[in-house]
Amino acid sequence: MNIDAAGWAAVARRDFLKGLGAGAMALGGAGLPVIGAADTRPEYRGPNVVIIRYGGGARRRESIEVGTTYSPFLCHELVKRGTLFKRMEITEMEGVETSHAQGTLFIITGKYDKYKDIGNKFLGARFEAKVPTLFEYLRKAYHVPSHRTLTINCEDRPDEEFLSFSSHHHYGVDYRSNVLSLYRFKAFLLERQVKEGKLGEKELAERRKALEKWEKVDYRTGGKDQQGREIEGFWERWREYYGDTGFVNPRGDRLLTELAVRSLKELRPRLLMVNYTDCDYVHWGNMSHYTRAVAIMDEGIKQIVAAVEANEEYHGNTIFVVVPDCGRDSNPFAAVPCQHHFNSRSAREIFALLVGPGIPQGVAVEKRVEQISVAATVGHFMKFKTEMAEGPVLAEAVA
Ligand SMILES: [Zn+2]
Repeated sequence: MNIDAAGWAAVARRDFLKGLGAGAMALGGAGLPVIGAADTRPEYRGPNVVIIRYGGGARRRESIEVGTTYSPFLCHELVKRGTLFKRMEITEMEGVETSHAQGTLFIITGKYDKYKDIGNKFLGARFEAKVPTLFEYLRKAYHVPSHRTLTINCEDRPDEEFLSFSSHHHYGVDYRSNVLSLYRFKAFLLERQVKEGKLGEKELAERRKALEKWEKVDYRTGGKDQQGREIEGFWERWREYYGDTGFVNPRGDRLLTELAVRSLKELRPRLLMVNYTDCDYVHWGNMSHYTRAVAIMDEGIKQIVAAVEANEEYHGNTIFVVVPDCGRDSNPFAAVPCQHHFNSRSAREIFALLVGPGIPQGVAVEKRVEQISVAATVGHFMKFKTEMAEGPVLAEAVA
């Protein structure tokens, strides 16, 4: 039986709630593991995949265009090692928005959809995939525990914290990826500090309140999105190193890089997605916030690639996919430069770079391709069916 610790906790809780013992019972009728039955999913033996969301919103101009790039490692080094789709786009279709959560879901589900805010005005926008994510496909096809499929999120974007699984009734939270983010660390820390009796009443109330906005987003897991033993171990070591204050660890996208590099060593993910975000600070109106964020993200990619190459388990056996969530506007007359909420042409114009075993090197593809092709292509390399993904496999990336 191969349910991870979080899965067991959920099962125990559900059994308890239903007044059933731990006897044989099917879970939810959703093709989920059955207690007492053998887990027939094979071990995963294919390549590891690292998806870098080159976000939050970056244009071709500052990334892959040689004369104007702020991303030298990507543009001059990494491109040489793989196949670059210079003209990937987000389709122009009514309701298909060029934004961060949407683009992320297009990448990991392989399907364009109108993602409506499903309620709660307080949070602004919440989205859920109706068709499975890559994490769910992988974990349903193979025995890969949740901590070996990881999403790394920025510290303050509650609406993206639970994009790690869909609402599809054959998939869903039982096949989710685990998430590493500062929110998850803070949740872990609060629990530990309560146990250790270290917090005064006032402090405790304040900390609880700070975590509330995330709890409100976590409306569809029924408490099942537990971190589990391995992730808690990861946070224990993080805490030992960086302490409790939150002031010592790196911030912003540098934090994401640090989490990614550590997770490669400590959790050994088979499928890892790093959701870079800081480009989006251009929303405040200052162009240099954007270009500086591109450069920091580029440095992060360089570090993650180096970490993979220095790791025996990953070196020569890892595929990188670098793809933006969305582009940005090019209108020179806009009061605030480089927005992305108007579905303008350059907000739909992105790219994708694939690097790794079996992928042709130094190839630039001029053909127009779709962002939703990333999912089918990852499925191809990892050998699982992406039955509900719509984009065709990016054939030029397959040697
Ligand atoms: Zn934005």
